Amino acid sequence: MPENQLGGQQVLYLPEGATRLLGRDAQRTNIAVGIAVANAVKSALGPKGMDKMLVSDLGDITITNDGATILEEMNVEHPVAKIMVDIAKTQDKEAGDGTTTVVILAGELLRGAGELLEQGVHPSTIIKGYKIAAEKASGVLNETSKKADSTDSSILQKIALVSMGSKNVGSDETKAQLSKIVIKSVEQVMDKDARGNTYIDRDLIKVEKKAGGTVGDTAFISGVLIDKEVAHPGMPKSIKNAKIALLDLALEIEKTEVDAKIEITSPEQMQAFLQQEERMLKDMVEKISKAKATVVFTQKGIDDVAQHFLAKSGILAVRRVKKSDMEKLAKAAGARIVTSLDDLSEKDLGYAGLVEERKISGEQMTFVEDCKNPKSVTIFIRGGTQQVVDEAERSLTDVIGAVSSVIEDGKFVLGGGATEVDLADKLRSYANTIGGREQLAIQKFADALEIIPKVLSESAGMDAIDTLVQLRNKHRSKEGTVYGVDIFKNAIGDMNRLGVYEPLRIKEQAIYSASEAAEIILRIDDMISSKGKGPSGGAPGGMPGGEAD
Ligand code: ADP
Ligand code: MG
Repeated sequence: MPENQLGGQQVLYLPEGATRLLGRDAQRTNIAVGIAVANAVKSALGPKGMDKMLVSDLGDITITNDGATILEEMNVEHPVAKIMVDIAKTQDKEAGDGTTTVVILAGELLRGAGELLEQGVHPSTIIKGYKIAAEKASGVLNETSKKADSTDSSILQKIALVSMGSKNVGSDETKAQLSKIVIKSVEQVMDKDARGNTYIDRDLIKVEKKAGGTVGDTAFISGVLIDKEVAHPGMPKSIKNAKIALLDLALEIEKTEVDAKIEITSPEQMQAFLQQEERMLKDMVEKISKAKATVVFTQKGIDDVAQHFLAKSGILAVRRVKKSDMEKLAKAAGARIVTSLDDLSEKDLGYAGLVEERKISGEQMTFVEDCKNPKSVTIFIRGGTQQVVDEAERSLTDVIGAVSSVIEDGKFVLGGGATEVDLADKLRSYANTIGGREQLAIQKFADALEIIPKVLSESAGMDAIDTLVQLRNKHRSKEGTVYGVDIFKNAIGDMNRLGVYEPLRIKEQAIYSASEAAEIILRIDDMISSKGKGPSGGAPGGMPGGEAD
């Protein structure tokens, strides 16, 4: 009997060992978990945020300041914690940066909701209020945001530096150099869609890394760096003005699917058979030579004999190249990926000023560079240790996201908590115009936003409450709305003058994702888990469904 009716109420029979939390218990637990997750990343926010060292089961060490990475490596089990991890991932995908912010904000929204629940406000009222607040906040954000001219490199540079500023990737000089590399990369791959809007496919910027050297050695490559060696020692290691063929086929003799048996009865027959095979491979290589290719990249394998012929023809070949790299090569060199050698002609070939195998920290890599107006480029990250290059990679992908966001949307806002204080102020005034209990939720939403300047000032060793009060006072005047936390001076400061700019999209996405997460979590009033720790740890199953207050 899977279900039963008892006095008109539904009764569920849970499997042995399952746990169940109902109504307020479920809400209380979930809110506590959400806040705990937010607390775990809080200290990582901003340029003065601390790093976390995470050690996996296998003993791998990650040192990071990145919210999404911290949560991912923590391997959280609780479903609510997983929702928090998911919003960090969404933020990463949509805006490329702001992952710590979104989690902290969601935690704070939950805290506010918890307080309202204690006061007897119904979850659906809170949810409604949060929705109204998020809409309003987004409207205000769009109104107050400033226009960024995507050709104004000084704005892009500031956005890049602020995004990079929160991770420890090197000296100011190194950071300036890296942000230039990112901007150059984004500008190189940006494109216009059918409606004439600028867009950036972030995947077209390949971020390759290798421990060794220093972060300052990180380089922009106007082409693609392939983490593979040249197939055969007899091939040239370097070709200038390369004409590149991209093949999605094996330079091998296809072994038939059918179990064919070839009977060879004499040495002559054996000889003839091998010669035939050799001729076929030679034909293949000749087709490549005839198309005038000097470099070959193939997604599949290259037979030893074919390698030999390629080497003899002076062709540099690399095999088993990843599909994603092949696509990037096509975009960078302006080549077409060919699936049959009979199709290959000179016009399918791409161009690179230089294709060269180089030994980097003991490993061979193939550089395809000096492409003409490449639509895919590479940032090659170097750094003292694996942890350093890993964190630099996380930082640069954030910066790529931030710069792309601002170029696509053409709008930016002030960082350092200035925007959050402004939003909170406007939301509070707005809340007063809303009748009903929703206004309580809108006020809590405003309070939650102020967590950002609070945490930023705390991380700088300032008194969070004093700073917030100063900021609120300053924001009362129209000129004061540019004030945020100047974490390097341990005071409040003009974010406009300091150039602390952030893409509008980071803030807008963070507000939407955080409030959505809070809404999802608040809506749950019944948690059934079949992963209980045995019968004794389980809440009594089979109880009539409880009511949320
Ligand atoms: P997230 O993962 O959310 O991007 P970060 O650690 O990158 O977190 O910190 C971003 C926060 O730090 C933003 O609120 C941003 O405005 C603030 N911030 C960054 N640079 C500065 C700065 N120079 N002065 C003040 N605040 C800054
Ligand atoms: Mg950031």
